[in-house]
Amino acid sequence: MEGETGFCRAGALPRVFRWGPHFGEEPPLVGANGSGCVFFSRCTMKCLYCQNSPWSWKGGGEDISVPRLTEILRELAVKDGCSNWNLVSPTPYLPAIREAAAPLLAEGIRLPFVWNSSGYERVETLAGYRDLCDIALIDMRYADDATARATSAAPGYVEANRAAVRYLHDELGPLDSDVPGSATRGVIVRLLVLPGHAEEAVENLAWLAGEGFTDLHVAVMSQYTPVYKALETPPFDRAVTEDEYNLVAEAAADFGFDRGWVQGFEASGASNLLGEAMPAGHGRVG
Ligand code: SF4
Repeated sequence: MEGETGFCRAGALPRVFRWGPHFGEEPPLVGANGSGCVFFSRCTMKCLYCQNSPWSWKGGGEDISVPRLTEILRELAVKDGCSNWNLVSPTPYLPAIREAAAPLLAEGIRLPFVWNSSGYERVETLAGYRDLCDIALIDMRYADDATARATSAAPGYVEANRAAVRYLHDELGPLDSDVPGSATRGVIVRLLVLPGHAEEAVENLAWLAGEGFTDLHVAVMSQYTPVYKALETPPFDRAVTEDEYNLVAEAAADFGFDRGWVQGFEASGASNLLGEAMPAGHGRVG
């Protein structure tokens, strides 16, 4: 608030890259009118393969006032008829988001809040802004801190991420609906398969199963694309192999996850974990 910036370089005002109905999320979040996404600039991590680097690393977007953010949330709910308010990488701006939502809530305009993040947040942050989290769309990206530090500048990721997932599971529980666009509460864990590090996704599945969290929806994602600094950093300079992807997809089934989605290698089509077709290309940016 005094003009200083930290790791993510976010300032006091929310900076937004773009917003609007989005149809690429998991089906329970996407009804006929889409998930109401607000893509915030900046991020709690700096992944060398980030597809969103123009706004996550470089801060592209526009500083907006809190009343303007209120109007954006109103438009997504009232004009666009979206299923939820999908806050993508909201963490640097939580106080402003809460302030922006307050007038709408007072008017009785309310959509489920989706907290869409890398999963690199402290439990006290999640607990402090629990009112902005009805649905958690949370990554489990790494199971090895050395990878997290080298690849995403995220020291202590594994412990922080697992504590966050445990907290969210305890608070929200499994997703309350599989019907397109109708989820109002619960957790979806996203596992992006990374080249040379597929076993870390398997380790995270093993951890989830060991905690008894096989009731959660998991999304196994094949969409990794080498971009940005990954182009100079093996093994992140290549796509995921089919063997790597299958290793994670099969582990999800073996550990007993039967709710969620596997994206389909090459994202050419996707099926849920019961083998039913779902739209291709679900996925987060970030
Ligand atoms: S990949 Fe996601 S978590 Fe990593 S820097 Fe980009 S937006 Fe942030």
